[in-house]
Amino acid sequence: MAGAQGCGEGKIAGLYDLERTLGKGHFAVVKLARHVFTGQRVAVKVIDKSKLAGEAAGQLLQEVRCMKLVQHPNVVRLYEVIDTHAKLYLILELGDGGDMFDHIMRHEGGLAEPRAKHYFAQIVHAISYCHKLHVVHRDLKPENVVFFQEQGVVKLTDFGFSNRFQPGKMLTTSCGSLAYSAPEILLGDEYDAPAVDIWSLGVILYMLVCGHPPFQEANDSETLTMIMDCRYTVPPHVSAQCAE
Ligand code: ATP
Repeated sequence: MAGAQGCGEGKIAGLYDLERTLGKGHFAVVKLARHVFTGQRVAVKVIDKSKLAGEAAGQLLQEVRCMKLVQHPNVVRLYEVIDTHAKLYLILELGDGGDMFDHIMRHEGGLAEPRAKHYFAQIVHAISYCHKLHVVHRDLKPENVVFFQEQGVVKLTDFGFSNRFQPGKMLTTSCGSLAYSAPEILLGDEYDAPAVDIWSLGVILYMLVCGHPPFQEANDSETLTMIMDCRYTVPPHVSAQCAE
């Protein structure tokens, strides 16, 4: 992790010029940036350290560790980490085509099934690779899948809830977003790490072919009940082969 003495307005450690915002999450802002000397365009995840409580700081280290470990054509590369007094900057490979959530929202009723299959297979490859390295993502959702139009691929990002696991050993920390979370996580039970990613993959597949989440009620407690009962309906336009 590189230490730096701080940064001027719109510049990180004199190395990158910050440009427009690409996306925002709960913990970070992701900006487009350009390397001052090489002109290389990157995505920079800017984390305000003053907003990180103790546990979140530990999780951030975990994000950096896991992203450095996983190197796969369908996982966003972490190039470097710049640590300043007030902020932490994760310098990431730039996705030039927006995220999958926005893409799904632009397609009412979901994507054509061959297209959905094409993208979904890439996400499955990324997760299968992570699990082989004993890394669980725990926050799989379309917002965390980014399009790389020039390369013609999608890549997984945001390892903010990721962790290492030992096969057969259960985890307990509850994480992720309600609509994508497996029942065992919501119950607060011990859970088998890779299985919770597999549940979220199912939710992503549903969204790709239906255009909306399978569990989305008027309020969180109703959504929770539907997830616990695994109650959802498949729209009639989805093929029997896919619905199975
Ligand atoms: P969350 O609240 O889900 O934990 P976060 O604060 O950890 O989010 P990210 O999910 O990493 O932030 O990024 C927020 C958004 O920024 C993404 O949904 C995506 O739209 C955009 N984004 C993230 N990484 C990249 C990238 N490498 N290239 C292009 N856009 C990106």
